[in-house]
Amino acid sequence: MIGIHPDNQAPELRDYNVYTSDPVLRRAVERGDAQWRDAELVRQGAEYGAEPTLRAAEDANHFEPELHTHSPRGERIDQVRFHPAWHAMMSIARRNGIANLPFFDERPSAWTAYAASLYMHSQIESGSTCPTTMTKACIPLMRLNGPLYAASGALLASLEHDARDVPLTQKRSMTVGMGMTEKQGGSDLRTNTTRAQPAGEGAWGPEYRLTGHKWFFSAPMCDGHLVLAKTDEGGPTCFFVPRWRPDGGKNAVHIQRLKDKVGNRSNSSCEVEFVDACGVRVGEEGRGISTIIEMATYTRLDCALSSAGFIRQAFAQSLHYASNRYAFGKALVDQPVMTELLADMALESQAATLLAMDLASRFGSASAMDLAWRRVMTPVAKFWNCKRAVALTGEAMEVFGGNGYVETGPMGRLFREAPVNSIWEGSGNVMCLDMLRAISRNPGDAQLVLDCLQEVATQAPPVLAQVRKLRDAVVQPSDVLEREARRFTQRLALVSQACLMLRHAGADESAAFVGSRFDPDWGPVAGVISGTIKPAALLRAAWV
Ligand SMILES: Cc1cc2nc3c(=O)[nH]c(=O)nc-3n(C[C@H](O)[C@H](O)[C@H](O)COP(=O)(O)OP(=O)(O)OC[C@H]3O[C@@H](n4cnc5c(N)ncnc54)[C@H](O)[C@@H]3O)c2cc1C
Repeated sequence: MIGIHPDNQAPELRDYNVYTSDPVLRRAVERGDAQWRDAELVRQGAEYGAEPTLRAAEDANHFEPELHTHSPRGERIDQVRFHPAWHAMMSIARRNGIANLPFFDERPSAWTAYAASLYMHSQIESGSTCPTTMTKACIPLMRLNGPLYAASGALLASLEHDARDVPLTQKRSMTVGMGMTEKQGGSDLRTNTTRAQPAGEGAWGPEYRLTGHKWFFSAPMCDGHLVLAKTDEGGPTCFFVPRWRPDGGKNAVHIQRLKDKVGNRSNSSCEVEFVDACGVRVGEEGRGISTIIEMATYTRLDCALSSAGFIRQAFAQSLHYASNRYAFGKALVDQPVMTELLADMALESQAATLLAMDLASRFGSASAMDLAWRRVMTPVAKFWNCKRAVALTGEAMEVFGGNGYVETGPMGRLFREAPVNSIWEGSGNVMCLDMLRAISRNPGDAQLVLDCLQEVATQAPPVLAQVRKLRDAVVQPSDVLEREARRFTQRLALVSQACLMLRHAGADESAAFVGSRFDPDWGPVAGVISGTIKPAALLRAAWV
């Protein structure tokens, strides 16, 4: 028997609803009290799965951004030009609230609503989420400078994508990026060398002139970037560096070259030189690193969400392909080894989605428990979902066989996109250290999180045993804990996922997750789940 296509070629997965086909996401939206957004998410889900969106996503990555440093008359313009498909994807992201929703809708559940949109957008075109989510993360910082926010608040709140390269006073909306990383180090920001000198009073408060270099500076066509630079008096300080100065002139942010990246091709990332560039202070002088780190907390949540989206897309593409491709007399999906692999991918996807959506829902709350969870679990979710996405997108590519390893299909792009989430916004080791820092600063946080996990884990002895190991680990001396940071973080991630599965997934799914992830045979290769579980039932529950 062969498939419906005469050459046994699986049709493209298209014209499906990315939201309604995903029961785990839809239930997470309901649990996060965001049913008010359900109809809009149904609309967005249809838009994301529609063929025109898929073609725009493809084109935005195929026709890469181009740098134009000078005008024909030799003036510096520092412009990156994009294919119209990029702007189509930016418009969708903006309209769907990814640039601002949780900071302009006061309902705590706006975080869940936002998270659902980002998770879907990342599945279809991830490059455009970079400037869009950075814009969202910058909003609380922009609010720290009254005159600047007075000039930019309405533009940040807009749902329109306005790509024009003109001063803020002429714009209908704006995007904001961030510039921390320098040649000598992106993790250790204390080594930054960019300088800022006071330069008198301007329209947005005291102005500074910035001199220095940034080695990775994404989305240079943003209307401004939050940049870390040192003042002589105070040390590392956060500045808003606009593309156009408040007086209407072009700011001296010179793009030197675009990065030739492994993936994330639709999005432009570059190296820049600040040549007495105008900047205004955001937050206290000398407190730039902690100011910027607040923003990074939001973008780390975004990495966890978007990597959960990659894993979901890897599963959705794999299930669709294997259901439409036949080998050795059966659809691939019905070959027992493949059924087991797909079921395992479904579990991985469900657990990643629960971890990220649960975390997002806590950003809307100020309870002691939710604050502790955010501090401890944001780096953990960022670390774990991003790592798992790298493995799962590779596995999904293989489900397509040779058809996965060509550019005429979605798998290559998904595979190349995955590692960047693990690198930027704090690489893997840095996330593990960040989690340790959180629990050493507030030892009560670890206790709250572990108590919460233990309450659920009592139903599942292997999970409870791991909670006990975590309790023993947190009281170890800090040098021992640092060496064990990856082990600790992985254990905490798996225990949290297991507890979320026990609370929110069906009995078969949670039993399969606990049975496999806490089995000594569970290892680096997907497709090993507990023998008593019926994998076909797991697949039916994962896709409607
Ligand atoms: C596509 C892309 C776009 C980017 N866009 C931006 C942007 O817009 N703005 C911006 O500011 N940056 C941007 N970055 C930079 C990114 O944030 C950094 O690459 C990242 O923070 C790591 O910094 P680094 O490259 O200097 O590596 P390093 O800091 O040198 O780290 C190298 C490795 O060492 C590990 N490490 C570091 N410290 C420790 C430690 N104490 N113990 C153990 N291990 C450690 C890290 O985990 C990492 O694996 C971008 C990067 C990429 C790839």
